[in-house]
Amino acid sequence: MIRFENVSVTYDGAPGPAVQGVDLVVPEGELVLLVGPSGVGKSTVLNAVSGLVPHFTGGTLRGRVTVAGRDTRTHKPRELADVVGTVGQDPLSHFVTDSVEDELAYGMESLGLAPAVMRRRVEETLDLLGLADLRDRSLATLSGGQRQRVAIGSVLTPHPRVLVLDEPTSALDPAAAEEVLSVLQRLVHDLGTTVLLAEHRLERVVQYADRVALLPSPGAAPVVGGPAEVMAV
Ligand code: ADP
Ligand code: ADP
Repeated sequence: MIRFENVSVTYDGAPGPAVQGVDLVVPEGELVLLVGPSGVGKSTVLNAVSGLVPHFTGGTLRGRVTVAGRDTRTHKPRELADVVGTVGQDPLSHFVTDSVEDELAYGMESLGLAPAVMRRRVEETLDLLGLADLRDRSLATLSGGQRQRVAIGSVLTPHPRVLVLDEPTSALDPAAAEEVLSVLQRLVHDLGTTVLLAEHRLERVVQYADRVALLPSPGAAPVVGGPAEVMAV
């Protein structure tokens, strides 16, 4: 579903590549964890999937990244938005409305769906993410884990096949992090969504991953394997 072929990214003015020699396949319906210390290039890899790299960040991408068969160099982020949903660390910066329900509906507004389809998708997503009791709540009154689930829900209502998440649990306590990670696991298992998740704390997420890609140091190629193999590196 996501394929990197010998990818390197060099930002303008940087002395060397931010990532180099990335060969990575994320099969459909798997949760792949991208792990490594801060600054190693995890966000760069995720942004190459959503097309932000190189279209919005500048710099040069060599090699090839495809998502659902689309080359991200020839498709702008807008042209990938129907296949890739992106969630960052800070859900508040992501929100554009005031209530849970409005936020889930917002992402579908440009898709031209019938109002009944939009309503059904909001209902499905509220149930899937355990948010039904919070539907009318103001986003400002939610806990961190609840906010992050709403952020995930807001990118799910367009039914993307791929979800890309950049340290979605970094601002959360362990219980809230577990809440978010089990939601992601359910998406993979129940809907066959493909998930690429970046995280610097391996222990927190490794048990949820089908496969792990470890970026050991800046500019080094990732080591890819099952969770146990990568834990042993
Ligand atoms: P991580 O997500 O693992 O912390 P990043 O991908 O954010 O790593 O960063 C990798 C390297 O690329 C860092 O040295 C960072 O400073 C640099 N970098 C990231 N984004 C940009 C950008 N838009 N322009 C220039 N340099 C960048
Ligand atoms: P519709 O939403 O019009 O029924 P779709 O073909 O997009 O049409 O979806 C069919 C079913 O697949 C939905 O009812 C839903 O249960 C499920 N589905 C597929 N992808 C997703 C997703 N990313 N998020 C939530 N549900 C999904």
